[in-house]
Amino acid sequence: MARGVIFRWLSAGLLVVGVSACSGGRPASTPAPAPTVARGTTSAAPAVRSLTYPVLEGYQLAVNRGTRTRTGQPGPHYWQQWADYTLQAELNPVSKRMTGKGTIRYFNRSPDTLRTVYVQLLQNIFAPGAKHDTNVPWSVEGITLNRVAAQGIDLQATGGEGPGYDVNGTILRLRLPQPLLPGGTADFAFDWKLRVPPDGAPRGGQDGEVYFMNYWYPQMAVYDDINGWQIDQYLGNAEFYMGYGNYDVSLTVPSGWLVTATGTLQNPDQVLTARTRARLDSARAGHGIVHVVTDLDREPGKSTTAGTGGKLTWRFHADNVRDVAWATSSRYLWDATTAAVGGAKGDGGQDTTLIQSFWRPEQRANHWDEAARYGQHSIEFYSKYLWPYPYPHMTAVDGPNSCGGMEYPMMTCIGGQWDTLGFYEVVTHEIGHMWFPMMVGSDEKRFAWMDEGLTQFDQSQSMDDFFKGFDDEARNRKNYLDFSTVAGEVELMHHGDRFPSYGSYGVAAYYKPATALVALRGVLGRDLFHKAFVEYIRRWRYKHPSPWDFFETFEDVSGRDLSWFWRTWFFETWRLDQAIDSVTTVGDSLDIEIGNRGRAPMPVPLVVTRTDGRTDTVTVPVEVWLGGAKKTDVKVAKEPAVKSIEIDPGRDFPDVDRDNQRWPR
Ligand SMILES: [Zn+2]
Repeated sequence: MARGVIFRWLSAGLLVVGVSACSGGRPASTPAPAPTVARGTTSAAPAVRSLTYPVLEGYQLAVNRGTRTRTGQPGPHYWQQWADYTLQAELNPVSKRMTGKGTIRYFNRSPDTLRTVYVQLLQNIFAPGAKHDTNVPWSVEGITLNRVAAQGIDLQATGGEGPGYDVNGTILRLRLPQPLLPGGTADFAFDWKLRVPPDGAPRGGQDGEVYFMNYWYPQMAVYDDINGWQIDQYLGNAEFYMGYGNYDVSLTVPSGWLVTATGTLQNPDQVLTARTRARLDSARAGHGIVHVVTDLDREPGKSTTAGTGGKLTWRFHADNVRDVAWATSSRYLWDATTAAVGGAKGDGGQDTTLIQSFWRPEQRANHWDEAARYGQHSIEFYSKYLWPYPYPHMTAVDGPNSCGGMEYPMMTCIGGQWDTLGFYEVVTHEIGHMWFPMMVGSDEKRFAWMDEGLTQFDQSQSMDDFFKGFDDEARNRKNYLDFSTVAGEVELMHHGDRFPSYGSYGVAAYYKPATALVALRGVLGRDLFHKAFVEYIRRWRYKHPSPWDFFETFEDVSGRDLSWFWRTWFFETWRLDQAIDSVTTVGDSLDIEIGNRGRAPMPVPLVVTRTDGRTDTVTVPVEVWLGGAKKTDVKVAKEPAVKSIEIDPGRDFPDVDRDNQRWPR
């Protein structure tokens, strides 16, 4: 989801987000190693290494079983489940109802025999009486199941122990007729219907002639090697944890309505006119924006074929995705172009991908005519910075206001009012989610920072590239610092539904982890940080990393013990406050006394500027603080005369008090 949505959650005092126009002053690389050895004032005490804690019990057990490793690589016995979906849906825009029918072939790749499996019915957040922790101002129906079958047998909604099923909120439990053995497969079948929720639904729904169809089918819950079944209820705030699979999807809508979905359109000849196909072909052949469907084209026979009985069925296929969404409207314009994604290095080996936008004409006021260009830049930037984009298209979709910004595989749902800065921000943020969590499939519910925090950081890199120096990192840092100095901050390691306030969730999921990554980049240096970040993607794409896989990968690649860093920024709410306490002349030297006034230990990059213009950087290593020292001192030559001294002028580290970091004050 987008930070813009989070803004609305934060208390009014935090809504003022500083937008500084230019970065400036950031050093091109991290400070060089210290030419002067810094001494801790309690150097007699041995340095106590703060351990990564609490070690997640499940993770340690997974290491013991060989599915994970302490080097952050998937273990030799790593496994994850798989499902193939064949789904059909028909939308009736008059009744606002969708009927669905589908089969799921579920592959048990775990070493466990499963007698029960769980299926997510996320639409049940809209069922009467459903529990939720976000504003859902009405109830519709949730999913009505007309048929549930497993292993060839129709099941009844019964409690008890024998074969059957029961529904608890957004979780369906299937008690299987036959145990599902390790290495075995089981087929499930569902018939269902739902009433599309109106605008106001989180993350999708219906707004006039626009339908953004999310969480519209029964989907296998994740069974993983750390926690087994992840069957947390969908309450609205915390996002999702989804397994990978292939999808064949057939979507029936009125003729003349355009459809876009996760996956590749399989039957363009049947649903698109020759003219529409020719325009799409020309978009695929170039790098400019092609208006595939314009204001003048939107009716049966012009953009789409006439269909049968006033309907058309659009078929899509998607490989190795964790979800499928789709959108349809009688009023969409359709723009398309391509983005270069890096060719053979990528998983699909593709040189380019299709970039699309679907939007209503009145959304020109919200800069939707720029959406395809913004999408193109975002995909090209992230493909270079992170990993080549592997999917056949990326599509920005204009949806209900309440979408704010929301990510789906190959698609975004974006609603609301935007200026150009905000619109690029939301487009590039949601597209950033194609890497986290779409490719790197973490558990968003329990560890929101693993997708939102990483994406917030990536968004800043993309904005810096697009707006040439725009310092989005400063906004993240300010949002974190403003919140950290008032009451209410909690640690990052919280389940997304268990934060005491939306503000604390926004900070812990978005701003603080994004700011912590900047700090980690400061600790490791840009090149080493980037190498570890990309290695994490390489190791964990299309898999289910835990936070410890992320931590261990950085330690493995850097060859550094970073346990103090993880503890400080991920498990505690310790604040960083480094200060220049005093500067005194002792013989030929200046003695700079540095205080560590907060609880967060960090290295101290100290920049000494002399009157002749020369600067030296002295870095006090973090180890000085790990034994509990509160003060240390650094000696530098007195001559040439020192004009100023500053801690961390590049602002890599989020210090709560900048004023005490400079000398003279
Ligand atoms: Zn997000």
